[in-house]
Amino acid sequence: MWPKEIDERRRRMGEIIQRLEKRFPSRHHHPIREAFPLLIATLLSQNTSDKNSSRAFQKLRSHYDVTPHVLAHLQPSDLKPHIEVAGLYEIRSRRIIALSKTVIERFGGDLDAILRRPTDEARQVLMGLKGVGPKTADILLAFRGNRPIMPVDTNIFRVSGRIGLVAGRHYERTRGALEEVIPEKKLGEMHFTLIQLGRDICKPRRPLCPLCPIASLCAYPDKTRE
Ligand code: SF4
Repeated sequence: MWPKEIDERRRRMGEIIQRLEKRFPSRHHHPIREAFPLLIATLLSQNTSDKNSSRAFQKLRSHYDVTPHVLAHLQPSDLKPHIEVAGLYEIRSRRIIALSKTVIERFGGDLDAILRRPTDEARQVLMGLKGVGPKTADILLAFRGNRPIMPVDTNIFRVSGRIGLVAGRHYERTRGALEEVIPEKKLGEMHFTLIQLGRDICKPRRPLCPLCPIASLCAYPDKTRE
């Protein structure tokens, strides 16, 4: 298990970061930088593969300006041919249209107005929007709002649990544990790096431990399988 002392925990994570940086080319920013498109892309990524959510967002973007003023005036059937590849098109399209209307009515169409608020307040306001959970709020805060936050996705949950940093699948506990041991300036980069580790090596069903650069620092019990 991880040491109790915070300095030791940070030292251990520092070693993990160093090894992962050598293995994976780092990415510091989300490829989508504007607030509202980032929100829509993140909504499309819920419960679907990266490939399909990315295709849906690109199709949507090639056909419409992804702004609240444009999307608020569409019907679900207008969105269908573009986003159905991501699945759950009826729920998603209704949600996207409703969210666009809310952003116009409550924030004058300017999602950045929320992101200029203090972090905790902005997070609460974002999570008050229908369909926006903690991960989506944190992605906006981290990659548009430049706040020192670690959004936690399913890969990051899995890796954090297996290495022994945090037990259970609790969003706030996992986010807090990671933010405690990863330096602020590395949080964005490590968000992408841990996702890549989870996808390429620390796979859900059969983690490829013998190929893993952090195997000697990991608490996962059965690291012999490949
Ligand atoms: S050693 Fe295995 S379980 Fe641990 S992080 Fe690497 S792949 Fe995952």
